[in-house]
This record gives sequence, structure tokens and C-alpha cells, in this order.
Amino acid sequence: MAYRQLQQSNRVAGAPTASRQIAPRVATGRRALHVAAVAEAEKTAATTRGGAASVPAPVDIANKLRYLFGRNGDYTNADAYHGTAWSVREKLIDSFNKTHEHWRKEDPKFIYYLSAEFLMGRSLTNTVYNLGLQGEYADALNQMGYEMEKVADAERDAALGNGGLGRLAACFLDSMATLDLPGWGYGIRYKYGMFKQALKNGYQIEQPDIWLTSGNPWEVRRDDVKFEVGFGGRVERRKVNGKEVTVWTPSEKVIAQAYDNPIPGFDTPTTSNLRLWDAMPLTEFDLGAFNAGDYDRAMLDRERAEAISAVLYPNDSTPEGKELRLKQQYFFVCASLQDVLSRFKAVHGTAFESLPDKACFQLNDTHPTIAVAELMRLLVDVEGLDWDQAWTITTKCLNYTNHTVMPEALEKWPVKVMAKMLPRHMEIIEVINEGWTRWLAGHLGDLKSEERAKRIAAMSIIHENPWNKEEMLVNMAYLAVVGSSAVNGVAAIHSNIVKDEILNDFYQIFPSKFQNKTNGVTPRRWLAWCNPELAALITDTLGTSEWINDTEKLAGLRAYASDKSFQAKWSAVKKAKKAKLAALIKKIHGDDVNQEALFDIQIKRIHEYKRQYLNVLSIIWRYKQLKKMSPEERRKAVPRVCVIGGKAASAYDMAKRIIRLVTAVGDVINRDPDTKDLLRLYFLPDYNVSLAETIIPAAELSQHISTAGTEASGTSNMKFQMNGCLIIGTWDGANIEIAEETGVDNVFVFGVRAEEINQLRKERKNFKTDPRWDELMRDIEGGMFGDKDYFKPLVDSVNNMKVGNDWFLLANDFAAYLEAQEEVDACYKDQAEWLRRSIMYTAGSGKFSSDRTIREYAEDIWHVKPSRPSA
Ligand SMILES: *Cc1c(COP(=O)(O)O)cnc(C)c1O
Repeated sequence: MAYRQLQQSNRVAGAPTASRQIAPRVATGRRALHVAAVAEAEKTAATTRGGAASVPAPVDIANKLRYLFGRNGDYTNADAYHGTAWSVREKLIDSFNKTHEHWRKEDPKFIYYLSAEFLMGRSLTNTVYNLGLQGEYADALNQMGYEMEKVADAERDAALGNGGLGRLAACFLDSMATLDLPGWGYGIRYKYGMFKQALKNGYQIEQPDIWLTSGNPWEVRRDDVKFEVGFGGRVERRKVNGKEVTVWTPSEKVIAQAYDNPIPGFDTPTTSNLRLWDAMPLTEFDLGAFNAGDYDRAMLDRERAEAISAVLYPNDSTPEGKELRLKQQYFFVCASLQDVLSRFKAVHGTAFESLPDKACFQLNDTHPTIAVAELMRLLVDVEGLDWDQAWTITTKCLNYTNHTVMPEALEKWPVKVMAKMLPRHMEIIEVINEGWTRWLAGHLGDLKSEERAKRIAAMSIIHENPWNKEEMLVNMAYLAVVGSSAVNGVAAIHSNIVKDEILNDFYQIFPSKFQNKTNGVTPRRWLAWCNPELAALITDTLGTSEWINDTEKLAGLRAYASDKSFQAKWSAVKKAKKAKLAALIKKIHGDDVNQEALFDIQIKRIHEYKRQYLNVLSIIWRYKQLKKMSPEERRKAVPRVCVIGGKAASAYDMAKRIIRLVTAVGDVINRDPDTKDLLRLYFLPDYNVSLAETIIPAAELSQHISTAGTEASGTSNMKFQMNGCLIIGTWDGANIEIAEETGVDNVFVFGVRAEEINQLRKERKNFKTDPRWDELMRDIEGGMFGDKDYFKPLVDSVNNMKVGNDWFLLANDFAAYLEAQEEVDACYKDQAEWLRRSIMYTAGSGKFSSDRTIREYAEDIWHVKPSRPSA
């Protein structure tokens, strides 16, 4: 059996252990129980020798609480969480040290995943499962009178990301470690992560995410790893030993302080790393100013420096054109590159020509693209390499992933801003662009001069702002393409759109640079650990738990898809998960929901292109139909509990109105005695990773209904698929590949195709809306859900059929969507068919493990090979 599998075998299943079943749950008994458990464990400890690792878990947890927190007995679940986490942390660090000792000896090539966002979620459950310690810690907590699940629930999410892009980075780290690939993530240790979303009278309000207040057991501060990062100032040429050198003297300097977050692989001794940077002032405190009575100034430098890593920009699919954001980007890129180069130099001295054999970097979207200029600066200005040699090295080391087709999300920085904040980098980008456009002129030598000039202008890294001819912009996507070896999209359709539309000019020049790497999600977090009941059933049925690291094995479930007794077990798991979600809805909204109803879920960032609005319209239509029905007809209707969740960017007015529409419609429907047994709509606030882990296993239908051609991939669709949840969706992003793997007939596909949307957008004026659509528009406008004035802009945004309105073509897809929803109802009435499809989804999800994605990156782009420490 593979490493850790032995320890794991019964635990993966999540079957309650004997001690868990007999553990008393009454809080009053806890202290006595706890003292007895610890005394018992201490006796055992006395007979064993060695360090922390050999101390029995209950003793260790109690010790942590006693000596780190000064507590003694009668802990809350939150206390128990901290004690457990600090205990587990030591095993994690042991594994981390061993792995890095091994990698230091082997000196393999490393992949560095540069990302402004890592949406890690919680760590306790993932860590104990991945390390094979689940049984030990679940038992320990049981002996002490606690339940692992409740204890784990006390952990706050590490929400250092907005949505899909940040969560992808987190899944990738899990897969890299699991596949023993030498690799680290690099990012920012935001003091405030993604805002906490609350509802007030049905409107979104944003509260700061103060996630570090009770300490973070999952990080290690590296006091010996810090780098200076400069901003502003001036650039000079000097002669040193007869050679002209460029010297940048920044006007502002801060310190980047490293924090390591160990990333445990599953079923392997490998534990890799996510290194996050915290910004600190260069001088701790200006005592001079303080003594002179200038208290404010004494604090000023500190605040200015700390602001850099203070907050995550709460935007999704739109760049926040703020200087602080560029500062954040440069801050973490500069520190990360210095860090990598300093480790390289410690082993290889200045043999930089071999840097591409030892290190490569993946740019997660354009956010870290300043790395192109920064690596050039470090190699040319600091290390003294020739420009051409440095350029060869830089382009060999860097690769770029495009994540979006939204034109507004392709980052462009005003030359003025860049020149002021990063004067040397602006110069470097100008030299890169001169070389690039000169090369292009040669390459396009056959074209007529006018056409050639047009093509060159269209591909220039520095270009005019089309909306303001006075302003010049640096196009970060173009810089990333020119400065990289490989450029990839994140699903087949998206990679084609990148090649054929977004970056078509570049594709024509460098066709072989462009690749597809369809996204994936980690089957550990998103199936095995968040749905242990389903995992146990799968393991039982397949006779092995190897599917956790080899998801293609899930295809073995196809043989059972129509098996009645298997369907019954499958259905029982779903019911148990639905009961948990029902309990959560009860906790948040105070309502009991019908657990026999179809659980219909749409959870993702709120965005017009994701079309939550279209979902709400169909719910209103369903409501109106139910209202009209006779009691006889109603008895035949399929009851539904609809859940919508997601955050709206704080400045995204339309998205906030959509949230309010959801809550307003819910308020009417959920209280209507005619329909409330047949239809509910709830908005679940503060959607994040841990909420997703509760919702997804309970989902029966999930909605991925973006306008075709707008969702690059989507990854929640993959999480739902793994958990046997049927999909209603458009022919977009990874939905297409999911349908291919699941069987297209098993998916409720509807709507226009990506190839049609440009034409349809042009034909807006001639579009004849469906009468049902017109009726719904009148209802909302007429105040059926209150807040008439507030909803007016929502109605206007989709209802005037002129060019530019209803940009995301809700009206075009409306009728087809209602029809697809009817198919859903019909299918749900045939439970055997529904369950067969559900099983086919999980069985077809093998492709969407991020292990597969990461293997492809490693083989086709990174050329990084596994290196596993001995157990
Ligand atoms: C997976 C995930 C996402 C991405 O969801 P999409 O529906 O693919 O946009 C966003 N947020 C969280 C918390 C996630 O877990």
C-alpha cells in the first residue's frame, strides 16, 4: 500500500470511529472527560520516548492550550480548534523540513506560481486528512469530549482571493505537492482578505475580514527572509570600471517579510510551500520625530508601508485602476524574484545561463506581469548581464495564463503612473517594446508599409488609450505574451477565443506559444474531504481509495449507474447532505425547507455575465405559474429550494442590485402560503470556500449559465460534477468539456453559442422579446417585489432593445432557459433517471482533477519533474 494509505484507509471514509460514537456530547461533562483523557494519555506518553511527535494527541492539544494560550480545561470549540491546529502544525513542519532538506540536496528545477490571490479556505481538515492524521485527531478530540467537525468549523477561512482565479491557485498547490513537484506559490499576505458579506434589509453590506486576530497556526514567519522593495525615485547612468551601468535610487523603500504556509500533499511525504509577503517599514519607528513631538509623522512611514499588504482588492473581472494595486503587484513580484535569485546564487553562483534549468514562473493572469521587467532589471542592472542574454533567460523562465475575455479586465497601466512609481521598469518596458516592434517590422517585412504599421501599432506593448488619446498605456497582457515562453487559456473554448480573438495578432506571429490547459479542482478538498460519506461509498464500491489520487478510476462507477441498490445508497448520501444544508438555511433564515425538494444552487461571484438575474427571472416565472395552478396541478409540480450566493464587488452597483432582487423575490415567495411548500429562494450570505464545502455536496442541480463565450472556464462546475450534481448550463467554458465527459444528453444545455454572440449583439434592435419576458419586466417595474426605483436600472439594463443593452443576451436565452428548466422538472420526477445521471456526473469527473491539469503544465510548459523525499 502506498504511503499513508494504511493510516488513511478507514478514515477517508469518515465512518464514525467507535470512540466517536460513544463520546458524550454534553458540555458539562467535558472538563472531567478532558482531564481523564489527558491523564490517560500522559500515562501512555511516559512509556514512549522522543520529541513532540510521540506525545499522544490529547496531551499535545492540552499542552498547546496550556502553554500557548494559558488555558486549562473547559475549552470552547474555538479553543479546541486552536489547540488542535497548533499540535498538527508541528507534524506539518516536520514534513515541510524533510521535504525541503531533500529538495536542497537534489536541487531539482522548481516551478514558482506567482499569484496575487490564493483562496485557501480552511486548513485543519485538509491538513489532518492529507497527512493521514484524521483518525488520530478525531479520536483525541472525542476522548476530550469534542467533535472534529464542530472544532474544524471554528476555523476562519484564509480568504486571500476573490473567486475562481484565487481558488485555482490553491487547488494547484495541493496538486503540485501531491504529485511531488518541486514548486512554491508566491503571493501577498493580506492583512484583510476578501470582505465579509452580510445582509442588511436584503442589501449587501461589506465588513472587513480581520482573519489574523487570533493568530494563524498555518504560517511560519521567516525572520531571516526579508528583502527591500523600492518605489519611485530616479534613474542614473554611471561608469563603473569603464562599463556603463544603470542605477535606480528609489525614493521609498519597504521591507518584504516572508511567511511560509506549508502545503501538505496527500499520500506522499511531500509538503511544499506557499510563501506570502508582508510589507513592513524599513525603519521600525522614527524615534527622532516622536521625540520632537511629531507623533503623527513617526507613525506615517509605518502606515504607508503596511498599506501595501493591507487589503485584497475586492474585484472580480475588473481591474482596480489604483496605484496601490500596481504597488502590490510589484511588491510581491520583486520580493519573490529576489528570493529565487538569492537561492539560485547560493548554489550556482552567477551562472545565470542555467537559471531556466532551475526555475520557472507561472504568471496567474496579468497581475504579476511586472516580473518581465523586474527579472530584466535584476539580471542587467544588479547582476551585470548583457541585455540580450538577460532577455533570453527571462523569456525562457516566464509563462502566462490568461483568465478572462472581459476586455475591461485586461490590465493596462498609464505610462505616467508606471514611470512615477517604477521609473526603471518603465524604461525597461520601453526598451523591450522598441526591440519587439523592430523585430516585428522585420518579421512583417512582406506587408505593405501601411498595413505593416497598422499591425505593429496594434501589437505595441505601449499604446494610446482608445478613450483618451492624450494618455499612453502599458498593456500588461501584451508584455506578458512577449516576455513568456508559453501562453495558455484555461478551457478548450477559452484557449480558442484567446488565439482567435483576444490575442489573435500574437497567435499569428507565435502559433506555438499558445496552449490550452483546462482547469481542474483538487478531488481531496472538493470530494473526499468535503463529502466523506460519498467518498466512503465510492471507495466501497470500487474496492479501493486510489481514485482520490487517480480520478480516472471514478469511471468505474459507470457500471453501477443504473444499479437500483447502488442508486439507493447514492441517494441516501445526497439526502444526508441536503439535511445539513437545510439545517444551515434554518440557522441563517429561520425557515424549515422541504428536504424532498430539488435543491437548485447557483453560487459564484455576482456578475452580469454570470447571469444570476436570468436565474431570478426564471424563479419568478415559476412562482407565477404555481400561483395560477389548481391544488391538483400543484400536487404534480416538482418542489424546489433555490439557493443563490456570492459577493458583489463593493463598487459594482448593478451586481448589488441583483443581490437585492434575489432577497426581495425570496421575501415574497417564501412567505406565500400558496407556494411556499413548492418553491423557496434563499440568498446565503458570505459565500466562501468553507460555505462551498457545505453547499456543493448537497446540490442536486447547479447553474452555470454565463453568456456563451464569457466564462473562461469556471471551476465550481467541476466541484458540483464531482459531487454528483446535475448541471443546467450554457455551451461555455469548461461546461462543454464536462458535458463531453458526462454525456451531453445528461446535461441540461441551452442557449446561444459563442460564435453567434457578436452578431446577436449587433442585432439588438431587431430582437423580439418573449411575451413572458415582457410580463416579468412589467412585474418588477411595477413593484411586485417592492423597491421599484432601486430595481429600475436592472430592468432598463436588459429591456431596451437597442445596441449595447442587454449585453449578456439574457433576453435571447430566456425562452430556451425556461424550456431547459422544464426538462429538469421532468427528469427529477423520474428519480431513477435522475440518480443515474448523478452517478454519471461523478463517474465522468476524472478529467477535472487539478492533478491532471498540473501534470500537463509540468510536462508541456514547466518541464519540472517529481522529486519525492523518502517517507
Ligand atoms: C470554486 C470557487 C469559485 C469559482 O466559482 P465559479 O462558479 O467557477 O465562478 C469562487 N469562489 C469560491 C469560494 C470557490 O470555491
